[in-house]
Amino acid sequence: MSDEQPAVERQDFIRDIVRDDLASGRHREVVTRFPPEPNGYLHIGHVKSIALNFGIAEEFGGRCHLRFDDTNPVKEEHEYIEAIKEDVRWLGFDWGAHLYHASDYFEQLYEWAEHLIRSGLAYVDDQSADEIRAQRGTLTEPGAASPWRERGSDENLVLFRAMRAGEFADGARVLRAKIDMAAGNINLRDPVLYRILHASHPRTGDRWCIYPTYDYAHGQSDAIEHITHSLCTLEFEDHRPLYEWLVEHLPVPSRPRQIEFARLNLASTVLSKRRLLRLVAEGRVSGWDDPRMPTICGIRRRGYPPAALRDFALRVGVAKRNSVVDPALLEHAVRTELNRTAARRMGVLEPLKVVIENYPEGASEELEAVNNPEDPGAGSRRVPFARELFIEAGDFMEEPPPKFYRLAPGREVRLRYAYLITCREVVKDPSGAIVELRCSYDPATRGGDAPDGRKVKATLHWVSAAHAVGAEVRLYEPLFTRPDPGAERDWVEDLNPASLRVVSEARLEPSVAELAAGERLQLERLGYFCLDPDSRPGRPVLNRTVTLRDTWAKVRDRG
Ligand code: ATP
Ligand code: MG
Repeated sequence: MSDEQPAVERQDFIRDIVRDDLASGRHREVVTRFPPEPNGYLHIGHVKSIALNFGIAEEFGGRCHLRFDDTNPVKEEHEYIEAIKEDVRWLGFDWGAHLYHASDYFEQLYEWAEHLIRSGLAYVDDQSADEIRAQRGTLTEPGAASPWRERGSDENLVLFRAMRAGEFADGARVLRAKIDMAAGNINLRDPVLYRILHASHPRTGDRWCIYPTYDYAHGQSDAIEHITHSLCTLEFEDHRPLYEWLVEHLPVPSRPRQIEFARLNLASTVLSKRRLLRLVAEGRVSGWDDPRMPTICGIRRRGYPPAALRDFALRVGVAKRNSVVDPALLEHAVRTELNRTAARRMGVLEPLKVVIENYPEGASEELEAVNNPEDPGAGSRRVPFARELFIEAGDFMEEPPPKFYRLAPGREVRLRYAYLITCREVVKDPSGAIVELRCSYDPATRGGDAPDGRKVKATLHWVSAAHAVGAEVRLYEPLFTRPDPGAERDWVEDLNPASLRVVSEARLEPSVAELAAGERLQLERLGYFCLDPDSRPGRPVLNRTVTLRDTWAKVRDRG
């Protein structure tokens, strides 16, 4: 796999179908849709579906609709609808004028239900959900017919209208398709099309007290919108015969085709709105947009660029077989993008004071530092240098082991973009903790190179103590301690108690204070970061997006 975008046409089994359908004239234009249920925030799994549906529409000059699949009024909220729109836009996709809701079609769907009843293809069943379930049969045994299965059309119509009029309690009756109780596919054993639910709907209010099931609403919504290729995840494969049966037996204006692909699973996290909701509701994360969450709003806050997510979706590809993706691949896509685009800055997470004894007291100067070695157009900036500095505490060892090349007593190292310094003395407090290093610098090495050509092994990042800005830095580890949360116990038990570490006394180069929330940067040697919305003037709060070390190549070579 290379880092370059494929210059040729993308190939996968869905794009092949679309290409064939356009070439054969079966369709003049491809129309896809992304159909979220507004019962939670979108997650990285949805990115795959969004990138596929909008991507195909874009590549083949068609269009992609955003359709809210809002057939279940109980779990849906307006907040989710707005968040989903924001997330899709942020990913870089545009539905144009094509924003729809399954609830827009309630009246049409109802009329088509009456059509089925009049055709003798649907009936009102007075049994409870439990009774109906008990009669469904199994994979090896046929189901049993409901005592109401042979009810006449006229009686069914009267009852269905009474259901709509609100004359019955929740669950008292349902409308079922009359297909085949002995069908090998259980979805064809007289599936429920409508249930009674006296609940207010975010869009239709109290106009309805019967609601269509997903199976009934989805394909018909596709047909109404002239969707050509209805792409969904594999768990709907067994529903396809029902999807086709309904399209065939109803006077719908078009014939969409359902095609299934494998959903994205990501190791070390959970991707289900129900589970993510539980994390939020139980306060195990700070909210849907907690930067540890696999939600789109969470990874946005964490600093993942949308281009990296689109690239990740392409790398993952589409296939028919379920698999689990290593998060290292996602991080690889994020690093590749940020390496190109993120400005470099210096900052110290665990400050250790350095006093340059031969640097004049009260003096300071500015040194030229490159903003992004990968992007000459990003220019340079000036970084203040003075007598008192901070370096990373971990970059010094009083008694260095053999392979430790950084600062140690008597040793010379380079300060990035500045000078070579040598450690002369270690100052400790009464408890023996190191509080300060007394060093000297070589004024002839300004910029970092010695005129006599002598070499040093290490280059350290640093900040000027007087000029640095104090910051809070939030460091993240995976949300779960194992790749398969819940494999052996309740999945919340596998939450990683160390998934967030807050560094409250970080010191950053002053220019970081000028960045706005959402801006991304690299702190040299520490990783990529993003300014959190919790930042205040003069007090930046940074999320570490990802560290610098890329483990993907290792994983890939092993695989
Ligand atoms: P969840 O299980 O997280 O609630 P869902 O499938 O119920 O997901 P929907 O809002 O119904 O969520 O999904 C909208 C679209 O996104 C559907 O077409 C669905 O198939 C697709 N989708 C959901 N999860 C994934 C995933 N992990 N990988 C790929 N596509 C997904
Ligand atoms: Mg769902």
